[in-house]
Amino acid sequence: MNGQGHGAWSSWVERALCALDEASLKRKRMPIEAIDSLRVRFEGVPLTLFSANDYLGLSCHPEVRAAAAESASAFGMGPRGSALICGYTDQHEALEQELARLKGTEAALLTPSGFSANMALFSAFGGADVAIFSDSLNHASIVDACRLAARSGAEVSVYPHADVSALDALLERCDRPRRLIVSDGLFSMDGDAAPLEALVELKKRHGALLCVDDAHGTLVFGASGGGVAEAQGVSADVDLHVGTLSKAFGALGGFVAASKVWCEWLLNKGRAQIYSTSLPLPLVAAARAALSVAQREPAHRERLWAHIERVAEALHMPARGPVFSRILGDPERALEASRHLLAAGIHVTAIRPPTVPTGTSRLRVTLSAAHRSEDIDALLDAMKELEEPG
Ligand code: PMP
Repeated sequence: MNGQGHGAWSSWVERALCALDEASLKRKRMPIEAIDSLRVRFEGVPLTLFSANDYLGLSCHPEVRAAAAESASAFGMGPRGSALICGYTDQHEALEQELARLKGTEAALLTPSGFSANMALFSAFGGADVAIFSDSLNHASIVDACRLAARSGAEVSVYPHADVSALDALLERCDRPRRLIVSDGLFSMDGDAAPLEALVELKKRHGALLCVDDAHGTLVFGASGGGVAEAQGVSADVDLHVGTLSKAFGALGGFVAASKVWCEWLLNKGRAQIYSTSLPLPLVAAARAALSVAQREPAHRERLWAHIERVAEALHMPARGPVFSRILGDPERALEASRHLLAAGIHVTAIRPPTVPTGTSRLRVTLSAAHRSEDIDALLDAMKELEEPG
């Protein structure tokens, strides 16, 4: 027997956890008590979340609550199985059609989460003649999905964040016939939008496909909530739209919106979709209700954007969207700042490596239409104190 067994594994893990702790990089959860989407209590103390992704506040909208509750009471969780076995219902089909309409595509395919949407997509689009070009700040699910594609022979190149000339040069040198550019739509940790017009120009010139994961921009940007691509007028030029139902939709689940043939391919080859149980019906009902509310009641988006403008002005930052990152550098500084805000009743998580590059630990503040004006006052007061200690 050469293996060192349980003892060696345990001491390895304990040492590694200790090292994370010493570097202020150990992760912990806070078991908060939910009151609604943004109001919580921790150890009895009320807090307002400025860390959630419920950008339109729809997770607690009366119609969304009612839709989820009625569905749960009528069907329970619905048929439990993957979509290809028995987990695909008329409600899943209706939601897919609505998502396809939102993104202006022929079809859409639901997946259990946004993370698995990327895993499914890239497992289906790998291959020895494939070259993938991925922005250096793309979400972890895209990074892992690219690693998966590399296992099938795809060559993965990471281009510097939003650097269109560097991407152009990489595409120029590429000798593989099937090329795929992938970018977040709204970058989750920095809050900036991808230069999609320029990416479309490159994809056309170099004969590539363009995949945009607009987890954070969907329902927040664009005249009909189609996302950053719609806002930049290039939605029809995006070949593969990835999205999630866990952010502005206020629910859970992911999707890919694309042509019928791409969706059919994913249905046959996207392993994270094929081999995973499909969404419970109450979540499908919640997402459908949220989409309908977002499209019928523009007031939610207008309120969110009014908050964005106000916070941007007060913090002297550009009004790019609902994510504001204050980069502080060291993990300990970010943790300290987060603790300071917590003492003022404001929950803003410290974001540290490996979620963000080393040296860019930060506070990531997210806004929601569900914040009241006095919540924004409290945030700005606490942020001000942070910047002017003493
Ligand atoms: N893609 C991006 C760009 C994201 O920011 C996230 C979530 N942080 C995901 C995918 C994963 O989505 P989900 O939470 O639905 O798995």
